[in-house]
Amino acid sequence: MDCSSSGQIEHWTLDDAKSAIQIETCGDCTTYIKTFRLDYDPELEAVADDLGSLSLDAAIETEGFKRVGLNPFSFPV
Ligand SMILES: [Zn+2]
Repeated sequence: MDCSSSGQIEHWTLDDAKSAIQIETCGDCTTYIKTFRLDYDPELEAVADDLGSLSLDAAIETEGFKRVGLNPFSFPV
């Protein structure tokens, strides 16, 4: 995220919590970032799956969030 706030972070997925495509929204600055969890799906292709999940983007943007970036190869820390 582009701010240091962590109090308003929410996680969104297409289907369940183990979905390889995750969106993190920040309620403070109303932005979101899309993350691909290669640990959930090693076969994930960032560009193709980004396009395939645009309906999720649309849903998030309906909530008033603006996309700030793509983090195609994210692993848990
Ligand atoms: Zn923020």
